Amino acid sequence: MLNFTVGPVMSSESVCNVGSEQVPYFRTPEFSTLMLENERLMLEFAKAPKGSRAVFMTNSSTGSMEASVMNCFTEKDKVLVINGGSFGERFVKLCEIHDIPHEIISLKHGQKLTEEKLYEYGGKGFTGLLVNVDETSTGVLYDVSMLGEFCKKNSLFFVTDCVSSFLADPYNMSECGADVMITGSQKVLACPPGVSIIILAPRAVDRVNNAKVKSMYFDLADCLKNMERGQTPFTPAVGILRQINTRLKEIEALGGSEAEIARVAAQAKDFRLRVSELPVEFVSESPANGVTPLHPINGNAYEIFTKLKDEYGIWICPNGGDMKETIFRVGHIGALTIEDNTILLNALKDLHEKGVF
Ligand SMILES: *Cc1c(COP(=O)(O)O)cnc(C)c1O
Repeated sequence: MLNFTVGPVMSSESVCNVGSEQVPYFRTPEFSTLMLENERLMLEFAKAPKGSRAVFMTNSSTGSMEASVMNCFTEKDKVLVINGGSFGERFVKLCEIHDIPHEIISLKHGQKLTEEKLYEYGGKGFTGLLVNVDETSTGVLYDVSMLGEFCKKNSLFFVTDCVSSFLADPYNMSECGADVMITGSQKVLACPPGVSIIILAPRAVDRVNNAKVKSMYFDLADCLKNMERGQTPFTPAVGILRQINTRLKEIEALGGSEAEIARVAAQAKDFRLRVSELPVEFVSESPANGVTPLHPINGNAYEIFTKLKDEYGIWICPNGGDMKETIFRVGHIGALTIEDNTILLNALKDLHEKGVF
């Protein structure tokens, strides 16, 4: 299998090897040490400000988006949600479900958010901002420094869903002033799905510790308290947390977050340069490194996905909803190489020559 989706993605050999081991009991000093090392490396790679904390949630990242909304906002807030695709839509739904007053900045698929448009919402009593830094459905990367500046000027609590952008696009939590950063195990961390990490800057730690959240599993104050000793309130996905540990140390050994971001960027650049010879259109006005959404001009995107899977053993990522037939996505994250790009491009050329698009 050759997997160019945006998650789950291909894991390194060492991560796969850990996955084949027996899963140990976890209420032990050894597991606590591993968890605290995971926290240290996550905070380092996110460039989190001093006093930040990380919690490891056993749920997919949507669970962590929900936990963040529930623990950080109440019906007294007025939250601005950037909605440029299906992940933005998810934050909108979460605000609706949890009765968080909100307004939406709606963007067309692939459209970037300009400073001019953003500042129309300044000085209007907003208290928080929710953004998917890479809106993975369209591959748009929002300008996190611009958003952070806006949040500072307007005193907004700033939640960044970095699920697909963490370790793929440059991110400095201290500099952009984000209060919350969310990511997941199956994107650039290239481990199996099942664990999501929430980093809380000091202001978010305070907020969460004072929140009255109506949930047992999503009570982040409880998670923070347990994490002081490297533990979780309930049985976590122990096996995946051990794989995350291996992966984080592997990234550290290969030069840290900058090196990983550069690797993903090079993988994306090579693909984009070479795919432009085919009759496809780029979708994103402000492309993120992790994924390239493409519109085949004369073909059906879902058919291309199916043919690559069934006839070539190559997985790209179909889109959902109204983008299903028109857009497919090629991921650049996980254990992929430039040679892998060549294999995919040859298959795409083949399909083009056969008249599929
Ligand atoms: C993948 C992703 C998520 C989380 O999706 P899950 O299916 O819950 O893992 C959230 N936001 C973005 C931007 C993503 O790319």
